[in-house]
Amino acid sequence: MRVLVTGAAGFLGSHLVDRLLGEGYTVVGFDNLSTGSPENIAHLANESRFNFLEGDICEPFNPGPVDYVFNFASPASPPKYLELAIETLRAGSVGVENTLEIALSNNAGYLHASTSECYGEPLEHPQREGYWGNVNPVGPRSVYDEAKRYAEALVMAYHRSRGANTHLVRIFNTYGPRLHPEDGRVISNFVAQALANQLLTIYGKGDQTRSFCYVDDLIEGIVRLSRSEEHLPVNIGNPNEFTILECAREVLELTGSKSEFRYLPMPEDDPTRRCPDIAKAKALLGWEPKTNLRQGLIKTIEYFRRKTA
Ligand code: UDP
Repeated sequence: MRVLVTGAAGFLGSHLVDRLLGEGYTVVGFDNLSTGSPENIAHLANESRFNFLEGDICEPFNPGPVDYVFNFASPASPPKYLELAIETLRAGSVGVENTLEIALSNNAGYLHASTSECYGEPLEHPQREGYWGNVNPVGPRSVYDEAKRYAEALVMAYHRSRGANTHLVRIFNTYGPRLHPEDGRVISNFVAQALANQLLTIYGKGDQTRSFCYVDDLIEGIVRLSRSEEHLPVNIGNPNEFTILECAREVLELTGSKSEFRYLPMPEDDPTRRCPDIAKAKALLGWEPKTNLRQGLIKTIEYFRRKTA
């Protein structure tokens, strides 16, 4: 099996590449390095079954013959997609279409990395796949949310109208080694700040919630979904829900840091709560996460310690 992974130098993409190589696949990694980092794939420099191509999915490209396409190329952290607004919209539209064409012309399977952001500010809790969401179509976050929602529509149209063998994973907040320290996401910010004895930046009152999935658990769910017969979206995430303040306190305890909190304004349209209903993934894939927040944070903190040492 020869597999294309776009966004291969990103946080999730690089973990997926490692997993696929571990199973004996040959992997073509594709990334324009706009938010991905060469460091995430540096350990593969001498891996003969891995080829890296630098490029943008928004331009037509030919990765050679492939049996499967995993489309993970997109800016994904709020500060990055706000900065790369048009690029994010293009990655979710033109870019997704290009990668779908590659899958179709190779008769390859296709899995697209979608997101819990499709649910927006959810009026149903926890979020089931059947919930249509509550998204502001013109707010600052719309560049990400609407690109991902359009991408889901595009993927479903390629499945229904062209017979493409597609899969959609709705990824909830995920963390672990290789999160970029300057990426701006909550766990990477808190861990980096705690280790540097800087103030932990809490947006709003910190009473908004997220449900954090450790990266290895997420990748396991994605690999299982890629081999399934399911074409409609499937939530993959950890249903254990925490307030941002609880998460901050856990990071302080595990790092032993004496950092205090600095309260900053809540970003516009920042969802107040988010938690996956994973009944579908459990029934369909026999999947559920195994790593709790504490265990996952310990591994993440270790990684950040090594990186800053
Ligand atoms: N957040 C925070 N401090 C930070 C970064 C994020 O309080 O330094 C909050 C943010 O407002 C959001 C939550 O943490 O409510 C998760 O943010 P993140 O950017 O990780 O992902 P999101 O779920 O918003 O895409």
